[in-house]
Amino acid sequence: MPRRFAANAAAFDTDVLIIGAGPSGLALARTLADAKIRSIVLDAQDAATLAEPPPDGRDIALTHRAQTIMRRLGLWERLPADELAPLREAVVYNGSDPRPLRFDARGSGEDELGHLVANHCIRRASWQAVQGCEFIDVRPATRVLGLSIDAETASVRCRGADGGEVTLRAPLMVAADSRFSEARRHAGIGAQMRDFGRSVIVCRMAHTEPNQAVAQECFHTGHTLAVLPMNGGESSIVVTVSSDVAAAMHRWDDETFAAWVQQQLGSRLGTMTLRGARHLYPLVAVYAQRFVAPRFALIGDAAVGMHPVTAHGYNFGLYGVEVLGALLAGARRAGRDLGSLGVLQPYETRHRRETWPVYHGTNAVVGLFTDDSETARWMREAVIRVADRLPVLKLAITQKLTRRSGFTWPSLPKLPTLPTLPLPGRRYQ
Ligand SMILES: Cc1cc2nc3c(=O)[nH]c(=O)nc-3n(C[C@H](O)[C@H](O)[C@H](O)COP(=O)(O)OP(=O)(O)OC[C@H]3O[C@@H](n4cnc5c(N)ncnc54)[C@H](O)[C@@H]3O)c2cc1C
Repeated sequence: MPRRFAANAAAFDTDVLIIGAGPSGLALARTLADAKIRSIVLDAQDAATLAEPPPDGRDIALTHRAQTIMRRLGLWERLPADELAPLREAVVYNGSDPRPLRFDARGSGEDELGHLVANHCIRRASWQAVQGCEFIDVRPATRVLGLSIDAETASVRCRGADGGEVTLRAPLMVAADSRFSEARRHAGIGAQMRDFGRSVIVCRMAHTEPNQAVAQECFHTGHTLAVLPMNGGESSIVVTVSSDVAAAMHRWDDETFAAWVQQQLGSRLGTMTLRGARHLYPLVAVYAQRFVAPRFALIGDAAVGMHPVTAHGYNFGLYGVEVLGALLAGARRAGRDLGSLGVLQPYETRHRRETWPVYHGTNAVVGLFTDDSETARWMREAVIRVADRLPVLKLAITQKLTRRSGFTWPSLPKLPTLPTLPLPGRRYQ
């Protein structure tokens, strides 16, 4: 039987200190509140910006599992219905090859691969879902000045909205402060970072032909272009180019940019017109060396910051919140210390198992599809042809998007058992 945690609760300001009131930090606070675990959430941004975040150009593809978690957290019903766009099919083009690789939800038992929604809608819904909750204390406009962790306590020194300095203490601290997490660095946890030397330009565009709820990923020499189908005759456009070119393209006037996108798409969506601002993001993928330490855990992009091409970042953030939240709820019921490594370690194991293959797989795909050498082009062609002819592989990818809980590979036909043969030079008993 685990020993019941008998620390002096009066020495703590809360049960869990969460740094970062982004989508991951707020989702964790909401999850913990359902288990009656108190949290203080600190964020550098002011309350008005957190409550009504401005559009940031990101449109987020949500898997079915993420949707299930969002429903449970009361986020889903807070998303404006007319902003939720179904994703029926995804099509991958390699250069001007007219035979694309197609994915749809057939065989998965679902009608769609997932849904798309603007990131600022997710942030706003996350903020609304924690309002008025007695177990959650969000402190906007709060700057973290330093943190310390000892055997008994995790503490953070910060400057609040009133300019005063305060030190907050809890048995556990969770960093959800973005892929460039300062808290991660302060806690002495390193991270593998991959700077792709590329940037994405993201924006919304209107078009005269319907998008049919089909996403397009087009790999061209020197750049890739993704089109994510949104509602109301609009799509989200994601252009990936080397960072020097991106900076120059970002300065193009709206008409030049729209004409370029239209030409790259071969006018498949008719006449394109820009809607709103263009946003520029440098592409840096991040994978923390550890997700937990005594009295400390990393979630969201602070743990795993994905390249956006496979649309996993926020989805992974929610999966991690689900796992960590369940462990902490179980620890609370059992009277265990929320910050002990014994409680946190299974999160590390499960989240690594979930994210590690996709993180490295995504980076490998990005490497292959952004290499303009003749060999890479030939390999891309081969990968697309092979993937198109392997229904099991396509179903596996589709199921990864459409599963509602933990992932299982589709069952393969049973292979005949081969007799075991001794290898030359080895003796077998
Ligand atoms: C172009 C693009 C497209 C994307 N598309 C998808 C997609 O289709 N699907 C998907 O799942 N994901 C996608 N993502 C990823 C997704 O946007 C992120 O994974 C998600 O926003 C991460 O949420 P987070 O809460 O972990 O971090 P963030 O959203 O970065 O929030 C961090 C919060 O911490 C606060 N903070 C930072 N430092 C401090 C500090 N020192 N003190 C206090 N507060 C601090 C910040 O103010 C912020 O509020 C995309 C990303 C990009 C760039």
